[in-house]
Amino acid sequence: MSDPEVIVIGGGVSGLSVAWWLAEAGIPVEVWDEADQPGGKIATRAAGGYLTERAASLMLNFRPEVSRLLAATGLDADRVSCPGPPGSPRYVLQGGRLVPVPMRPGALVRSPLLSLRGKLRVLAEPFVPKGRRPEETVSEFVQRRLGRELLEKTMEPFIAGPLASDPDLASAQAVLPRLKAIEQRYASLALGIFVHRVLKRRTAPIHEVFSFRNGLATLIDALAAAPGVRVHARHAATQLEPTRSGWRVTGNTPGGERTLRARHVVLSLPAAGAATLLRPFDDELEGLLRGIEYASLTVVHLAFDRSTVHHPLKGTGFLVPRAECPQLTGCQWVSSLFPCRAPPGKALMTCYLGGARAPETREWDDDRCIAALMAWLAPLVKITAAPERVWIDRHERALPLYHGAYPGRLGAIAARLANWPGLHVAANYRGGVSIRDRIACGYAMAQGIRSALADSGAPLPAAAFRSFPMHAVGGSSC
Ligand SMILES: Cc1cc2nc3c(=O)[nH]c(=O)nc-3n(C[C@H](O)[C@H](O)[C@H](O)COP(=O)(O)OP(=O)(O)OC[C@H]3O[C@@H](n4cnc5c(N)ncnc54)[C@H](O)[C@@H]3O)c2cc1C
Repeated sequence: MSDPEVIVIGGGVSGLSVAWWLAEAGIPVEVWDEADQPGGKIATRAAGGYLTERAASLMLNFRPEVSRLLAATGLDADRVSCPGPPGSPRYVLQGGRLVPVPMRPGALVRSPLLSLRGKLRVLAEPFVPKGRRPEETVSEFVQRRLGRELLEKTMEPFIAGPLASDPDLASAQAVLPRLKAIEQRYASLALGIFVHRVLKRRTAPIHEVFSFRNGLATLIDALAAAPGVRVHARHAATQLEPTRSGWRVTGNTPGGERTLRARHVVLSLPAAGAATLLRPFDDELEGLLRGIEYASLTVVHLAFDRSTVHHPLKGTGFLVPRAECPQLTGCQWVSSLFPCRAPPGKALMTCYLGGARAPETREWDDDRCIAALMAWLAPLVKITAAPERVWIDRHERALPLYHGAYPGRLGAIAARLANWPGLHVAANYRGGVSIRDRIACGYAMAQGIRSALADSGAPLPAAAFRSFPMHAVGGSSC
């Protein structure tokens, strides 16, 4: 088999997205993944009439690259959209009760979530002067613009839940780049968002929240099956070396040790794994990557007989502010979102334990996780019997934390990478953790590699010179 132009190490959604966009442009690419199958944090389990996601469960899209990929792969037809507000609200826990999250300014004014003082503070946002400090934390940014109450009651659970992060430590520039950019451009979030809405600057619907009929593994299968992408499972890269014309990768495979050469290598494995590969030839880059912190998460799926849950479960689920319960970050009402994911007459809930604000939960055994969840959930959604089925997925290094001076770290990583032509990093610690951002970053990276190959005079197939079908939209620093 001939050597490919590009080798991608790590077949999670980051690596597979780069590979898919490269193959789309006619550039041969090989993907190695050390696991039994590609997908990384995206894996769907079907058992006993239930469908559960081991980690990621939903996509929220507003990027044209994602819409384009879904159309080109035919995945559009497989999509299952999530019902959204007002008919199906998301709740936040407050004082032991579930309160709907207001999604529009009018709803915020009527909502019991904030006090009158808190609401007036939010309404004063347009009069708050523009911030001058680039290295603000999320808490500093949100508190400065919208007030402490909104931070604690809504923003903190949104950062602690989907990102497993701590707003007191997370960099606002890294976690909220779009809001920071709007502030700098319009001096007000309210004004900026209004202008964007009026001018319809969005290129895809903002509340496009969905999965696929058979779960998110469908996305992985489609990316891995693209013509031109050769995916090898059980291929663990152990060594990376620069050569005169590119890179040599060595790894353990079921057939023994294998070595492959390519002009470009994309590191799409978690930061510590990338650091290990880089150690022999760039200890500064190794240190920058090894210093990235991760949060652990335990995902607990609980299935009940519906008759034993005396709550309508009308909505998507709820998020939990630190002040209410630091260990539980949120709970998704899966059988309300996707009725086909549980047998008739059953209720399926997925709960998330841990994250940056409760690292101690990684030590909890299964019984303790279930007992704690039942103690919190039973009074909240009126459960009167034990779960009939439970699945627990543990992620020791679930999500990278964009904590501290994170933009500075990313800048230093980019500066070191510039010394190594043909070496690239595409992973969720750079440019956003969501599947949407991973696909969009994959597009940007594939574009860069294609240009570099063309500039170097590499004999590329004709398809590689046809222009990519769209322009990347700004917003993330991939
Ligand atoms: C619990 C949880 C819930 C989430 N929910 C959502 C959600 O609902 N929506 C959303 O958009 N995002 C969600 N995310 C985030 C999203 O799933 C991840 O950010 C994304 O899937 C990470 O993709 P990745 O390819 O960067 O990394 P990974 O998925 O970690 O992939 C890295 C790959 O590298 C491979 N690898 C490691 N070492 C080697 C080696 N030496 N050689 C070869 N291969 C190697 C691994 O086997 C793995 O497949 C969630 C994440 C978690 C943990």
